[in-house]
Amino acid sequence: MPLKTKINTYNNINQQKIQDPVICNDLPNSAVYAIMELPMFTFCPICASKKITFSEGKVFHCPDCGFVYYHNTAAATGCIIEADGRILFLVRGKEPAKGKLDLPGGFVDPGEGILEGLCRELQEEIGWSPPAPPGKPLTEIFTLFASFSNVYPYKNINYNTCDSYFYIHAPGLREQDLVPEQAEITAIRFLKPEDIDFDTIAFDSTRRAVQEYLAMTR
Ligand SMILES: [Zn+2]
Repeated sequence: MPLKTKINTYNNINQQKIQDPVICNDLPNSAVYAIMELPMFTFCPICASKKITFSEGKVFHCPDCGFVYYHNTAAATGCIIEADGRILFLVRGKEPAKGKLDLPGGFVDPGEGILEGLCRELQEEIGWSPPAPPGKPLTEIFTLFASFSNVYPYKNINYNTCDSYFYIHAPGLREQDLVPEQAEITAIRFLKPEDIDFDTIAFDSTRRAVQEYLAMTR
């Protein structure tokens, strides 16, 4: 059964809300909570009590020793790199969604700001940094245009994520300028909007971001 939730999008100029709410097919919070009820800890990792509870979609609590753990939402990024009317996609080389299209980006690491995380992922995944004058703020190089909730399943753990999507124009960028990360990516594709098969995009939030970007710019 398709589930819908409310998300907000932001325009590309001043990052104010432009639509409130937008409907997309990401999971609603209640469904995310249900997914998160999957047993991640069945024993308290401190005292091994079986009385450990999980609530609010994020909090583990052990009544026997007082252990508390917040399984918080993880920050993640995605980036539309548009070069001469084509959008850069990666073909995923790993599960989840192996073989499907994805945008460059990924989880933000501890100690990183969201744009620092994005820049690191761009280097790791495609060996690319945006050509920009030294010292130019990252906030002037990348433009935030959408943010959605998502659920990222990995090895029997479901991670609730907050995906933030940015875009950048890179005229002249070609596939031969890039170095795909061998372990993660099997190919790089520059696709014209009319050639994008949305059913082959890996995640709902990524699909929605590409649709929003095209609606905003075409
Ligand atoms: Zn305990």
